[in-house]
Amino acid sequence: MALSTISINGQKVRFGVGLRDDICTELTALRSNKALILSTPQQVDMAMELATTVGDRAAGVFTRATMHTPVDVTEEAVEHALSVNADSIVSIGGGSTIGLGKAIALRTDLPQVAIPTTYAGSEATPILGQTEDGIKTTLTDQKVLPRVILYDPELVASLPPAMTVTSALNAMAHAAEALYAKDRTDETTELAIDGLKAFAEGLPTVVGNPNDLKAREETQRGAWACGTVLGLVGMALHHKLCHTLGGSFNLPHAETHAIILPHAIAYNAVGVPELLEPVSNILGGSKPGQALWNFAKSMGAPMALKDLGLSKADLDRATEIALNNPYWNPQPVTADGLRALLQNAWAGTAPSV
Ligand code: NAD
Repeated sequence: MALSTISINGQKVRFGVGLRDDICTELTALRSNKALILSTPQQVDMAMELATTVGDRAAGVFTRATMHTPVDVTEEAVEHALSVNADSIVSIGGGSTIGLGKAIALRTDLPQVAIPTTYAGSEATPILGQTEDGIKTTLTDQKVLPRVILYDPELVASLPPAMTVTSALNAMAHAAEALYAKDRTDETTELAIDGLKAFAEGLPTVVGNPNDLKAREETQRGAWACGTVLGLVGMALHHKLCHTLGGSFNLPHAETHAIILPHAIAYNAVGVPELLEPVSNILGGSKPGQALWNFAKSMGAPMALKDLGLSKADLDRATEIALNNPYWNPQPVTADGLRALLQNAWAGTAPSV
């Protein structure tokens, strides 16, 4: 039977239906009596419900979390946390809300409880991306790793179907790139495979029946495995390209990951086919990029960058920006190769590898 509590890398990770109602147990363990609850404006209702559960121990609710963690919002949130004497942070939401919690922790050392409502996986990493003057930078610091994660399947059940799929593919991207990471170990490969399997098995059920809480829990276990592996090894072409497209063309995070993933994996499958074998073993067929493309399509994912508003004329500039910032990749990144990858992703053409 799957464990409902895991302690790993200094984090306590719990899975279970209705776990958000047990938040006070975690606040007691953290000796917290003044928890500041964070959310996005779109998830105020979830935050308010949680504040009711926390009761007298709630120091307030801050609901301005925003995509890409803008530093001005963080500064406002830190000021708010200090003004109410908060002694812990509780983030209920996706990567944006959890990112704000991490940014506050970096500046205040306050302990965090993360209650994820997407599959993005930020809760399981010591990584923080922040944006200032339009530039996003990323740092890694154990100080930002939440002390506790509560995975409550009921909270992802409210994710709209389209976001369920794109967020799942975002998580799977962490695992797929972990398979060929330069600093991979047998343990990280095993975690990546577990994460991919959990989504391959759980996502079709969840898409068919969003309220199947057993399958939702399976996908959350996948999100945890994929997020954990993201924190343990370095990423390559896929993540760097998504970072460029998100940062320079303001494309939405999860959708961009969903569209680029099959193409980036196909690109690298030419260089390291044996390392990517688990992808096709798990999803079917013998070509990992194609297997991901078919899986994404069958789940109803967006398939073409042109549908996200990227113009064909932007592809040359995207190639240039992506090449300007060299990084390690298992397969050499060339201008022609990258341009062809982007062309396929833009048009929504299936990869051939
Ligand atoms: P998000 O947190 O931005 O959420 C997107 C939208 O969906 C928001 O409006 C949110 O309120 C809403 N939403 C979230 N969960 C919902 C639910 N269950 N029901 C209804 N609405 C819900 O999206 P995300 O994809 O989770 O996070 C993206 C951000 O996280 C990006 O900034 C990305 O860079 C960051 N991220 C960071 C890491 C890391 O390790 N540092 C990892 C993954 C993602």
